[in-house]
Amino acid sequence: MEYLKFPMQYLRISQGENTGSHLGTYAMDLAGRDTGKDPVYAPCSGTVVRIRSNANGELYLWSDGDVRCPDGYTGPVTVTLIHDETFNVRQGQHVVQGAHIYDEGGMGHGHPGAYGAHCHMEIVKGHVQPYQTRNAQGSWRTPGQMMHLYDALWIGGDVAILGDGGYPWHRLPAAAGRTYTVKAGDGWWRIAAQQLGSGSLCYKLARANGKTIFSALHPGDVISLEV
Ligand SMILES: [Zn+2]
Repeated sequence: MEYLKFPMQYLRISQGENTGSHLGTYAMDLAGRDTGKDPVYAPCSGTVVRIRSNANGELYLWSDGDVRCPDGYTGPVTVTLIHDETFNVRQGQHVVQGAHIYDEGGMGHGHPGAYGAHCHMEIVKGHVQPYQTRNAQGSWRTPGQMMHLYDALWIGGDVAILGDGGYPWHRLPAAAGRTYTVKAGDGWWRIAAQQLGSGSLCYKLARANGKTIFSALHPGDVISLEV
Protein backbone atom coordinates (compact mmCIF):
# COMPACT_ATOMS: atom_id res chain seq x y z
CA MET A 1 0.00 0.00 0.00
CA GLU A 2 1.39 3.40 -0.95
CA TYR A 3 1.98 6.25 1.46
CA LEU A 4 0.03 9.26 0.19
CA LYS A 5 2.72 11.88 -0.40
CA PHE A 6 2.85 15.66 -0.56
CA PRO A 7 2.94 16.40 -4.30
CA MET A 8 5.59 19.13 -4.63
CA GLN A 9 9.29 19.59 -3.82
CA TYR A 10 8.63 22.80 -1.88
CA LEU A 11 5.87 23.24 0.69
CA ARG A 12 4.54 26.77 0.94
CA ILE A 13 0.91 27.42 1.95
CA SER A 14 -0.38 30.63 0.41
CA GLN A 15 -3.99 30.17 1.57
CA GLY A 16 -4.95 27.77 4.36
CA GLU A 17 -8.15 25.89 5.02
CA ASN A 18 -11.44 27.46 6.15
CA THR A 19 -10.42 30.98 5.16
CA GLY A 20 -11.04 33.28 2.18
CA SER A 21 -12.23 31.25 -0.80
CA HIS A 22 -11.79 28.06 1.29
CA LEU A 23 -14.38 28.89 3.96
CA GLY A 24 -16.00 25.72 5.25
CA THR A 25 -13.50 23.49 3.42
CA TYR A 26 -10.12 21.86 4.05
CA ALA A 27 -8.71 22.98 0.69
CA MET A 28 -5.29 24.63 0.67
CA ASP A 29 -3.36 26.63 -1.91
CA LEU A 30 0.21 25.48 -2.53
CA ALA A 31 2.62 28.03 -3.96
CA GLY A 32 5.93 26.13 -4.05
CA ARG A 33 8.96 28.38 -4.41
CA ASP A 34 6.73 31.30 -5.45
CA THR A 35 9.06 32.00 -8.35
CA GLY A 36 6.96 30.58 -11.20
CA LYS A 37 5.09 27.38 -11.95
CA ASP A 38 6.52 24.54 -9.90
CA PRO A 39 5.75 20.98 -11.01
CA VAL A 40 3.18 18.88 -9.14
CA TYR A 41 3.74 15.11 -8.85
CA ALA A 42 1.17 12.34 -8.42
CA PRO A 43 0.72 11.86 -4.64
CA CYS A 44 -0.16 8.22 -5.31
CA SER A 45 -0.58 5.91 -8.25
CA GLY A 46 -4.03 6.19 -9.72
CA THR A 47 -6.27 7.09 -12.62
CA VAL A 48 -6.97 10.61 -13.84
CA VAL A 49 -10.74 10.31 -13.88
CA ARG A 50 -11.48 13.81 -15.09
CA ILE A 51 -9.68 16.76 -16.62
CA ARG A 52 -11.32 20.10 -17.14
CA SER A 53 -8.77 22.06 -19.14
CA ASN A 54 -10.96 25.13 -19.51
CA ALA A 55 -12.91 26.56 -16.55
CA ASN A 56 -10.46 26.38 -13.61
CA GLY A 57 -8.00 23.82 -14.95
CA GLU A 58 -9.15 20.92 -12.80
CA LEU A 59 -7.66 17.43 -12.47
CA TYR A 60 -9.26 14.64 -10.43
CA LEU A 61 -7.23 11.55 -9.46
CA TRP A 62 -8.63 8.34 -7.99
CA SER A 63 -6.01 6.35 -6.06
CA ASP A 64 -5.31 2.76 -7.03
CA GLY A 65 -7.11 1.12 -4.13
CA ASP A 66 -6.06 2.05 -0.59
CA VAL A 67 -3.38 4.51 0.48
CA ARG A 68 -1.85 5.08 3.91
CA CYS A 69 -2.20 8.48 5.61
CA PRO A 70 -0.44 9.91 8.71
CA ASP A 71 -3.70 10.15 10.72
CA GLY A 72 -4.06 6.35 10.43
CA TYR A 73 -6.60 6.37 7.59
CA THR A 74 -6.11 3.63 5.06
CA GLY A 75 -8.48 3.62 2.15
CA PRO A 76 -9.05 5.08 -1.29
CA VAL A 77 -8.89 8.84 -1.90
CA THR A 78 -9.90 11.34 -4.55
CA VAL A 79 -7.32 14.09 -5.09
CA THR A 80 -8.40 17.37 -6.69
CA LEU A 81 -5.87 19.80 -8.22
CA ILE A 82 -7.00 23.16 -9.63
CA HIS A 83 -5.62 26.03 -11.78
CA ASP A 84 -3.23 24.28 -14.23
CA GLU A 85 -3.02 25.92 -17.66
CA THR A 86 -1.06 23.26 -19.56
CA PHE A 87 -2.08 19.68 -18.87
CA ASN A 88 0.49 16.98 -19.48
CA VAL A 89 -1.75 13.98 -18.78
CA ARG A 90 -5.05 13.07 -20.35
CA GLN A 91 -8.38 12.01 -18.91
CA GLY A 92 -8.48 8.26 -18.29
CA GLN A 93 -4.69 7.97 -18.04
CA HIS A 94 -3.13 5.79 -15.36
CA VAL A 95 -0.24 7.49 -13.56
CA VAL A 96 2.33 6.21 -11.09
CA GLN A 97 3.20 7.85 -7.80
CA GLY A 98 5.76 10.61 -8.32
CA ALA A 99 4.98 11.17 -12.00
CA HIS A 100 4.91 14.80 -13.13
CA ILE A 101 1.18 15.16 -13.79
CA TYR A 102 0.44 18.81 -13.16
CA ASP A 103 1.87 22.30 -12.71
CA GLU A 104 0.99 25.34 -10.73
CA GLY A 105 -1.06 27.78 -12.76
CA GLY A 106 -3.48 30.67 -12.65
CA MET A 107 -6.36 29.30 -14.76
CA GLY A 108 -9.67 30.80 -13.70
CA HIS A 109 -13.02 30.95 -15.51
CA GLY A 110 -11.35 29.77 -18.71
CA HIS A 111 -8.62 32.42 -18.60
CA PRO A 112 -4.92 31.60 -18.07
CA GLY A 113 -3.26 33.97 -15.64
CA ALA A 114 -6.51 34.86 -13.86
CA TYR A 115 -4.71 34.16 -10.57
CA GLY A 116 -1.12 34.12 -9.38
CA ALA A 117 0.43 30.72 -10.08
CA HIS A 118 -0.45 28.17 -7.42
CA CYS A 119 -2.05 24.73 -7.00
CA HIS A 120 -5.36 24.47 -5.13
CA MET A 121 -5.52 21.00 -3.58
CA GLU A 122 -8.29 18.96 -1.95
CA ILE A 123 -8.36 15.37 -0.70
CA VAL A 124 -11.62 13.49 -0.12
CA LYS A 125 -12.01 10.00 1.33
CA GLY A 126 -13.19 7.40 -1.16
CA HIS A 127 -13.62 7.58 -4.89
CA VAL A 128 -16.13 10.39 -5.24
CA GLN A 129 -17.71 12.11 -8.21
CA PRO A 130 -15.13 14.42 -9.85
CA TYR A 131 -16.71 17.85 -9.90
CA GLN A 132 -16.97 21.03 -7.86
CA THR A 133 -19.98 22.04 -5.82
CA ARG A 134 -20.60 25.21 -3.83
CA ASN A 135 -21.05 25.03 -0.07
CA ALA A 136 -23.18 27.23 2.19
CA GLN A 137 -20.30 29.70 2.59
CA GLY A 138 -19.98 30.08 -1.18
CA SER A 139 -16.73 28.10 -1.47
CA TRP A 140 -16.20 25.59 -4.28
CA ARG A 141 -15.18 22.10 -3.24
CA THR A 142 -15.27 18.44 -4.24
CA PRO A 143 -18.24 16.77 -2.53
CA GLY A 144 -17.51 14.13 0.11
CA GLN A 145 -15.61 13.72 3.37
CA MET A 146 -12.66 16.12 3.03
CA MET A 147 -9.41 15.38 4.86
CA HIS A 148 -7.07 17.96 6.34
CA LEU A 149 -4.11 17.90 3.96
CA TYR A 150 -1.76 17.60 6.93
CA ASP A 151 -3.67 14.49 8.10
CA ALA A 152 -3.67 12.96 4.63
CA LEU A 153 -0.22 13.68 3.18
CA TRP A 154 3.23 12.53 4.22
CA ILE A 155 6.04 15.02 3.67
CA GLY A 156 8.87 13.16 1.97
CA GLY A 157 12.44 13.64 3.11
CA ASP A 158 13.17 15.41 -0.19
CA VAL A 159 10.56 18.14 0.41
CA ALA A 160 11.76 21.55 1.61
CA ILE A 161 9.32 23.30 3.95
CA LEU A 162 9.30 27.01 3.08
CA GLY A 163 6.01 27.94 4.77
CA ASP A 164 4.02 25.36 6.72
CA GLY A 165 0.98 27.60 7.27
CA GLY A 166 1.13 26.72 10.97
CA TYR A 167 -0.20 23.21 10.35
CA PRO A 168 1.16 20.01 11.98
CA TRP A 169 2.62 18.24 8.94
CA HIS A 170 4.07 14.74 9.22
CA ARG A 171 7.44 13.73 7.83
CA LEU A 172 7.52 10.36 6.10
CA PRO A 173 9.68 7.98 8.16
CA ALA A 174 12.94 7.35 6.34
CA ALA A 175 12.33 3.64 5.91
CA ALA A 176 8.70 4.02 4.86
CA GLY A 177 7.33 4.11 1.39
CA ARG A 178 10.04 1.98 -0.17
CA THR A 179 9.10 1.08 -3.73
CA TYR A 180 10.52 -1.14 -6.43
CA THR A 181 10.42 -0.75 -10.20
CA VAL A 182 9.63 -4.04 -11.91
CA LYS A 183 12.23 -5.33 -14.37
CA ALA A 184 11.81 -7.79 -17.23
CA GLY A 185 11.60 -11.34 -15.93
CA ASP A 186 10.53 -10.35 -12.43
CA GLY A 187 7.79 -12.19 -10.59
CA TRP A 188 6.24 -11.78 -7.17
CA TRP A 189 8.39 -14.57 -5.68
CA ARG A 190 11.66 -13.21 -7.08
CA ILE A 191 10.98 -9.64 -5.92
CA ALA A 192 10.00 -10.84 -2.43
CA ALA A 193 13.15 -12.98 -2.25
CA GLN A 194 15.50 -10.26 -3.48
CA GLN A 195 13.93 -7.19 -1.86
CA LEU A 196 12.33 -8.59 1.31
CA GLY A 197 14.66 -11.49 2.00
CA SER A 198 12.11 -14.29 1.62
CA GLY A 199 10.24 -15.49 -1.42
CA SER A 200 7.42 -16.71 0.80
CA LEU A 201 6.51 -13.08 1.47
CA CYS A 202 5.23 -12.92 -2.12
CA TYR A 203 1.62 -13.41 -0.97
CA LYS A 204 1.79 -10.47 1.45
CA LEU A 205 3.65 -8.39 -1.12
CA ALA A 206 1.00 -8.97 -3.77
CA ARG A 207 -1.82 -8.29 -1.30
CA ALA A 208 -0.15 -5.06 -0.12
CA ASN A 209 -0.32 -3.87 -3.71
CA GLY A 210 -3.97 -4.81 -4.14
CA LYS A 211 -3.07 -7.88 -6.26
CA THR A 212 -2.63 -11.63 -5.99
CA ILE A 213 0.44 -13.68 -6.95
CA PHE A 214 -1.41 -14.53 -10.17
CA SER A 215 -1.58 -10.85 -11.17
CA ALA A 216 0.75 -9.95 -14.04
CA LEU A 217 3.74 -7.69 -13.43
CA HIS A 218 5.03 -5.48 -16.22
CA PRO A 219 8.48 -3.91 -16.56
CA GLY A 220 8.25 -0.32 -15.34
CA ASP A 221 5.45 -0.99 -12.84
CA VAL A 222 6.25 0.59 -9.49
CA ILE A 223 5.15 -1.52 -6.53
CA SER A 224 5.22 -0.83 -2.82
CA LEU A 225 7.55 -2.95 -0.70
CA GLU A 226 5.55 -2.18 2.45
CA VAL A 227 4.06 -5.52 3.49
ZN1 LIG B 1 -7.74 27.60 -3.40
